[in-house]
Amino acid sequence: MHEARLWKPLRKPLVQCQLCNHFCLIKPDMRGRCGVRENIDGTLYTLNYGRVAAVNLDPIEKKPLYHFQPGTQTYSFATMGCNLSCSFCQNWSISQPPRVDGTLEGQPRSPEMLVREALRLNASSIAYTYTEPTVFFELMHDTAQLARNNKLKNVMVSNGYMSRKCLDALGPDIDAINVDLKCFTEDFYQDLSGAALAPVLENLRYIKNELKWWLEVTTLLIPGKNDSAHELNALTDFLVSELGPETPWHISRFHPDYKMGRTPATSRDSLDMAYEIGCQKGLKYIYIGNMPGLDRQHTHCPGCGHRVITRSGFGVALTELEHGTCSQCGKKIHGINL
Ligand code: SF4
Repeated sequence: MHEARLWKPLRKPLVQCQLCNHFCLIKPDMRGRCGVRENIDGTLYTLNYGRVAAVNLDPIEKKPLYHFQPGTQTYSFATMGCNLSCSFCQNWSISQPPRVDGTLEGQPRSPEMLVREALRLNASSIAYTYTEPTVFFELMHDTAQLARNNKLKNVMVSNGYMSRKCLDALGPDIDAINVDLKCFTEDFYQDLSGAALAPVLENLRYIKNELKWWLEVTTLLIPGKNDSAHELNALTDFLVSELGPETPWHISRFHPDYKMGRTPATSRDSLDMAYEIGCQKGLKYIYIGNMPGLDRQHTHCPGCGHRVITRSGFGVALTELEHGTCSQCGKKIHGINL
């Protein structure tokens, strides 16, 4: 068992976890809301350190990160667990069991093993993904530092609900992040995810303006829940005014899953409406995901409209880019190592 970081003792034997915005108060022999951090005799332990539940070599586009080292492979892993309880979770079989019944499975992997394997597979980066990496912070942090020392980049795919302390601890070692902005109402976050919107917005601002990690945002569009024109106008206003029009926005199609098995998949019209609203607001890079056959995966130059990155599945053609600029008009295309 591994002692946790980012917690503090209160009146013994009560402790407070300070890893995410739930700031759980945890009694002895109890776990926090994520189900992977336990108070044992007044000390907080992380139960998922080195217990890897999913691991793959993925295209970086699969995260999705479209403007960060496109065309490269990222060594991706997760432990079980999540600090949110989204009714529509698409990875619920590994994210939710620790919360629901305490199940916590995984294969033993140390940071050294993970980095060695990433190097052996010629990955350009390591991705902390699939479940919520915040709840395997200690394993991520140790692995990210080792990865950096071995000239690998580090990327996160996150719900953005970590604490400021967590972000600051990761600050020097993370290069890019895709944050789920699930909707733009407190009611949705509370009812469908067991969380709050405001800390996610605050973290997005902080990541963009202070930490300066490369940032992309994903919104899963769920029929009747977060797809009204009013809400999408507010959400895209935030993206443009607070994070900048160069922030890539991935609109993702919902499929019935987990506790929302009876909700229909997102319609083509709804995806198109979100796309058009984003365009009207001035977002330069908008993509639609989980919708085969829809031609909104490519990157077009915001200056002249020329297609500069062509994507097919997870295949990428970069021939219309010249040192990160459009081959037709020379305008800079935003991103890292384009
Ligand atoms: S990570 Fe979040 S949910 Fe888990 S124990 Fe800490 S504060 Fe609670």
